Amino acid sequence: MTRMHAAFITGHGGNDVVLLGDRTKPVRKAGEVMVRMRAGGLNRVDLYMRDSGAGITHSLPQTLGLDGVGTIEDADDNETRLKKGQRVVLHPALGCGRCAFCLRGEHVLCLTSKYLGEHVDGTLSEFVCLPAENAFPAPEVLDDIEAAALSVAPLTAWRMVFTKAAVKPWETVLIFGVGGAVSLSALQFVKMIGARAIVTSRDDAKLGRAMALGADATINGVREDIARRALALTDGRGVDVVIENVGEAVWPHAMKSLVRGGRIVLCGATSGDAPSADLRRLFIRQLQVMGSTHGTFEEFRQLLAVTGQGGFRPVIDSRYAFGEIHAALDRLDASAQFGKIGIDMPR
Ligand SMILES: [Zn+2]
Repeated sequence: MTRMHAAFITGHGGNDVVLLGDRTKPVRKAGEVMVRMRAGGLNRVDLYMRDSGAGITHSLPQTLGLDGVGTIEDADDNETRLKKGQRVVLHPALGCGRCAFCLRGEHVLCLTSKYLGEHVDGTLSEFVCLPAENAFPAPEVLDDIEAAALSVAPLTAWRMVFTKAAVKPWETVLIFGVGGAVSLSALQFVKMIGARAIVTSRDDAKLGRAMALGADATINGVREDIARRALALTDGRGVDVVIENVGEAVWPHAMKSLVRGGRIVLCGATSGDAPSADLRRLFIRQLQVMGSTHGTFEEFRQLLAVTGQGGFRPVIDSRYAFGEIHAALDRLDASAQFGKIGIDMPR
């Protein structure tokens, strides 16, 4: 069999360019594993690739998807870590393995890094071939869609909370846009270590669900002044850390919510990327601004270890069959979700 089913884009602009059909089955190279996919999930970058893809080198048609779990279909004869039939979760970043960043384990900073679903064919496919080191044993405590959900959003949040912000148990963290899978994962990690979490959303229902997940306080971004409310909730002091991916629409509120010496970690700018920098506030109050993208193999190992011990379970918003991908993309586009939108692959 040389053909396989996949969800792929043939151009840019809306669901019309997203096709479900046959593509050529990839050929496994030495050092790679071939994975028979069981489940995937959607990320905002899937919408970006569908609608624009500008600035990301890729060729059409291209298969969508960064999240993925599957079973090992084929591997090198001398592969010892992974066995055929074993369930694995995919880390979708393909580093060169040789540049200064890769050599120190930071292949998320690799000079020629490629991502499944962005620069090369992605995970919403019957088969995926990728370097064996990008396939990690999936935690047994998770089902397929939950395991696939680990590939991007929780890993991104893990790096933001633990590596970049290095949140301490006695600190207060303000998390913007709870409902998105990164923000929700950040909430879960902050509560995992006993720190205090304040979350924002424009949707009361999402705020209520965040409270059920352990949030200590909520702010409705439509009805309330976020910075004023964050100060009130911290006795006028301000929060220690802001976790943010909304960008321009909330940046001034984020800056004004911080305590002196506070830090803000940013992994996205969906509402725009050129807010006022507020430099005077930045230096007088000695704030720290940190950018963050995805996470390393080592951070993924840490996340998988905690997950395997029952310490973390990603929130799944909804589960769609492979054939329903257009509806799944619409749900993400409308920001209607609370957690990960999962895709079951056909068996
Ligand atoms: Zn590299």
